[in-house]
Amino acid sequence: MQPRILTLANQKGGVGKTTTAINLATALAAIGERVLIVDLDPQGNASTGLGLGRHQRERSSYDLLLNEATVSEAVSMTSVPNVAVVPSTMDLLGVELMIAAERDRAFRLKEALRSAHEVLIDGKPVTYVLIDCPPSLNLLTINALTAAHAVLVPLQCEFFALEGLSQLLQTIEQIRSTLNPALSIQGVVMTMYDKRNNLSEQVLTDVREHMGTLVYDTVIPRNVRLSEAPSYGKPALLYDLKCAGSQAYLRLATEVIKRERQLRAA
Ligand code: ADP
Ligand code: MG
Repeated sequence: MQPRILTLANQKGGVGKTTTAINLATALAAIGERVLIVDLDPQGNASTGLGLGRHQRERSSYDLLLNEATVSEAVSMTSVPNVAVVPSTMDLLGVELMIAAERDRAFRLKEALRSAHEVLIDGKPVTYVLIDCPPSLNLLTINALTAAHAVLVPLQCEFFALEGLSQLLQTIEQIRSTLNPALSIQGVVMTMYDKRNNLSEQVLTDVREHMGTLVYDTVIPRNVRLSEAPSYGKPALLYDLKCAGSQAYLRLATEVIKRERQLRAA
């Protein structure tokens, strides 16, 4: 069976895409899934956060986009149980220019992920692919949205949260009407929520008003453990399972799976 492909996208930087990719993947794995993260950001924060040093990235998402490796060839195992990664390198910065003139430029990742079921963890095929996007609506992000079954949007609980959202929703709509008609929105996850800050609460209320049930019940709190963990090359769930951030990502994973069941049934 083909794994479900979820893209984490928001053209703003620093909203929690990578933190969500790493910790949601770990949480999904903790409840029985086998997860492949595709790092599509030249910054490579997801790769680093999973403990993969720069010298360990022999094959990368660059090779996928240029058809120089299959996904099974490009994958690296991580120290996180049941989580594998296709890491990224700075080479990704050049990919856009290299494929810009190609007819299939938006479909490179989709093509490469056709064989995602061949990626085995402990001898069994992966069940989820999470794609971590760069902070831009560039060709890399378009490849990720074209390849996905659904998109998961992290939004930071801050004043300008809604500002970029409409542009992102427009892009998703465009992709739907052209490159990927089946693309759905898995949900919007509010991140860095600070309960001592009235603004956080206000933003949450506004976004729920705008986006309704698309917003997950689970809200990710601002939690220093989540920001410390990457410097140890670990997801927060392996660094401090009991912290509020880890617990929130476990709840989010349960919600994501519940929604996937509904989307599949629809
Ligand atoms: P993006 O991938 O969207 O650029 P990141 O996930 O890298 O965003 O997060 C940006 C910064 O905020 C990072 O330093 C990260 O450790 C920190 N961060 C993310 N989520 C939280 C959170 N819930 N609480 C505290 N810090 C967070
Ligand atoms: Mg990131």
